[in-house]
Amino acid sequence: MTTVYLATDNPHKVEELSAMFEREALAIQVKSADEIGGMPEVEETEQTFEGNAMLKVEALASKVGPGNYALADDSGLEVDALQGAPGVISARFAGEDATDIQNLVKLMILVSQIPEKKRGAQFVCSLVLMNSEGFSESYLGICRGVVIQESRGDEGFGYDPMFIPGGYELTFGELGWDVKSNISHRARALQQLVSWFRKQNKSG
Ligand code: IMP
Repeated sequence: MTTVYLATDNPHKVEELSAMFEREALAIQVKSADEIGGMPEVEETEQTFEGNAMLKVEALASKVGPGNYALADDSGLEVDALQGAPGVISARFAGEDATDIQNLVKLMILVSQIPEKKRGAQFVCSLVLMNSEGFSESYLGICRGVVIQESRGDEGFGYDPMFIPGGYELTFGELGWDVKSNISHRARALQQLVSWFRKQNKSG
């Protein structure tokens, strides 16, 4: 069976992708990089989500073995009026070892200076899939919405409590997983990945 090894140390991402493949009845197993010696240390030095996802996937792909794939993701929040910040430094916006709360507070202060009508923002997720020969496919998932200057809801993580997706009045922190797992940037990128695997199955 084809195996996709995730270029991450985050066990939640393995669970999320396994559940999605299962729901889509795809005969592909998802494993953590731990099963092939662990995720090599990668410095995320690129200026784009795709560039950083590529660095991570390249670090793992040579270890996956014939017929299998490595998959890396990189994601973050871009606020229009802040020229796309926090962007690729979303995880370390308030400093190298910043916590989610420190990042939220920093963003809240900046958002309070943006007029309410100009608070457009988007979550972006880049996924890069690569096989052991270096063949790669990239997918981009975007979820547009607005940022607010307060923190609402305790579901999710990161900037979820400050982000209201388009068409909703509640934040991702309030909406919870059932909604987020269908419309998020990551869900949208993963749906494209699933479509690609489906096409391979049909033509293979
Ligand atoms: P990663 O690339 O998925 O590790 O995400 C990097 C950072 O972007 C996280 O630490 C969060 O601050 C932010 N981020 C990415 N995706 C989300 C999301 O779905 N909700 C909230 N914050 C997110």
